Amino acid sequence: MSQKTFPLQKGALEEVAREFPTPFYLYDEAAIVANANRIIEAFADFPAYLNYFAVKALPNPYILKVLAKAGFGADCSSYPELLLAQRAGLSGEKIMFTSNETPAFEYEKAEELGAIINLDDFTHIDYLEQTVGLPSLVSLRYNPGSLKQGNAIIGEPHKSKYGLTRDQLFEAYKRLQEKGVRRFALHTMVASNELDVSYHIETAKLLFELAVEVKEKLGIALEFVNFGGGVGIPYTLDKEPLDYSELANGIKRVYDEILTPAGLAGMGIRTEWGRVVTGPYGWLITRAIHKKHTYREYVGVDASMADLMRPGMYGAYHHITVAGKENDEGTQTYDVVGSLCENNDKFAEDRVLPPISVAAEGGAGDLLVIHDAGAHGRAMGFNYNGKLRCGELLLRANGEVVQIRRPETVADYFATLDFAGVKDF
Ligand SMILES: *Cc1c(COP(=O)(O)O)cnc(C)c1O
Repeated sequence: MSQKTFPLQKGALEEVAREFPTPFYLYDEAAIVANANRIIEAFADFPAYLNYFAVKALPNPYILKVLAKAGFGADCSSYPELLLAQRAGLSGEKIMFTSNETPAFEYEKAEELGAIINLDDFTHIDYLEQTVGLPSLVSLRYNPGSLKQGNAIIGEPHKSKYGLTRDQLFEAYKRLQEKGVRRFALHTMVASNELDVSYHIETAKLLFELAVEVKEKLGIALEFVNFGGGVGIPYTLDKEPLDYSELANGIKRVYDEILTPAGLAGMGIRTEWGRVVTGPYGWLITRAIHKKHTYREYVGVDASMADLMRPGMYGAYHHITVAGKENDEGTQTYDVVGSLCENNDKFAEDRVLPPISVAAEGGAGDLLVIHDAGAHGRAMGFNYNGKLRCGELLLRANGEVVQIRRPETVADYFATLDFAGVKDF
């Protein structure tokens, strides 16, 4: 059993909501930093361990800055994500640029920042050379195909569009070597939201064995291998968080077994964890405004799947608590729904909760706390149905709450329509 926590009592949360109307995301800086430190601590035995935080999970430069200060880099996959990393003060090899179907201007920006470029395909070697030239260090993304089982969210590797096959990988290193590249790295990403430690250790083993083969066949000592992201978090109460030390110790065991005898003992290991870094330390706060009884019981809230689409998109479970009623018995069964004209705009279905008061009944309406929304939450939002995405708040380590992204306005929505030179007809 895992426990769901939230850093503010109801009174303090209501006070925040007076200054910043719901819905909004709230992130807990102290908890994020403590978590980053636990990760760094667990991997302290490896040479030059580094986690490149996956920017797509929480693309906010203030958060990236907090993580950079804790020692993390950034994993970017687009031009704007590179700009976010730059804004957070990151540059050089603190940035990993893992993209696919990459346009030239994105490689140019990555090169300008000195980011480590991770190539997704064999043909990108020439493309990169022709556009920005080959950097001194090149990483390649491996797709193990049927050698590795995927999991439900990411799918099977052999159906995945990412990465090079095994044969292509060897060819690509060779070609890069011939073109004068001298520093190499290896990357893969085969899982998403995976809580099984042994699964991640298996991935490490696969990459370590490959690193040995690369050394034997091509004489290349890889500088580091990068396991990508994909470490899960326990969204449901019956699951436990993954134990970082257990994972790091397991990886160290295969590292010592495979790499050390092959003379690769100095090889670095890196990760691109996003979800597990910020996921549990971000919450979507929304107010209950309507109640409806038809064939089911509904609670309508002021957020929608435009703010958090994981439940609608994947049927993902997000735990919900009611501020001030955390310890009350669940006696009602509700669907908690947003206002989008899509029937999958439901934060929860048949969820057992304490009785909820809504604004339409005359009071303020309860504040609902939607848990584990700190990664792949606000980031996946969209404007369908003219929905304006909510803002983001950061609970600073000193207890202050600051806005780190304002909510969207109607002017933002019209900004791509009202521009200089638009034709009026
Ligand atoms: C999405 C992604 C990540 C982050 O995954 P998490 O599940 O958030 O840890 C890392 N690397 C790449 C290449 C990705 O696409």
